[in-house]
Amino acid sequence: MPAKDAFPVSIRRSQRARHVRLVVKPGGVELVVPPHVSEVQALIFMHRQRQWVERKLMEIRDRLNQDTHLREPLASGSTVPFQGREVPLVVRQLAGARLRIARAEDGPFEIALPASSSIPVDLQVRTALFSWVAKWMRIEADRLAHLYGHASGLLPRNIRVKRMKTRWGSCGPRNDINLNWILAFAPPSVLEYVVVHEICHIRHRNHSREYWALVTHCLPGWPREREWLKRQGGELLQRFA
Ligand SMILES: [Zn+2]
Repeated sequence: MPAKDAFPVSIRRSQRARHVRLVVKPGGVELVVPPHVSEVQALIFMHRQRQWVERKLMEIRDRLNQDTHLREPLASGSTVPFQGREVPLVVRQLAGARLRIARAEDGPFEIALPASSSIPVDLQVRTALFSWVAKWMRIEADRLAHLYGHASGLLPRNIRVKRMKTRWGSCGPRNDINLNWILAFAPPSVLEYVVVHEICHIRHRNHSREYWALVTHCLPGWPREREWLKRQGGELLQRFA
């Protein structure tokens, strides 16, 4: 097998798995291994499925390439509307580098990529941005949840930032709040509204009149932000989801 067809393999032990499972992702393959199977056995299993894995990987990467052709690719010189203000991306491909991202206050997003990777640059930039945004948004959303929820006891158990294709946020039965990372690319008041929207679901699990009264009590100007999401949210989802 030529070296260029090699793909990274990661092994994940699972107590719940019954069989060895192969999960093919754009960046490589995850081998899910149950307790009674050794890593060597799992790797032998994977080797037998090698052709299937390579075909799958190619399919996934082709699809990603097609998807990214429909929208402006994220690369050096392009910008992302972080908190509603265009922030430039500075992308460097370096031999031996690991995927890294940093941002100094008010500066550009500086992203280092491994020069040898076969994953499209656009996709690597998205991965890097997601990891940065997820960390940032957890802290920011936590601050907002405290700000608006503290006095009324509307505090989430946990806040998670996720990639979601159709939703901006959700509040689970145990008051775990999920937020769409794409909210980072809307104005700050929009993220504020979605956090308030979700923490108010801690008290009312519906969109009743009482629920909206609580939202209004926390954030009287909310209809403007909701309107923003209706008008401009679709475009953001298309670009980043
Ligand atoms: Zn809702």
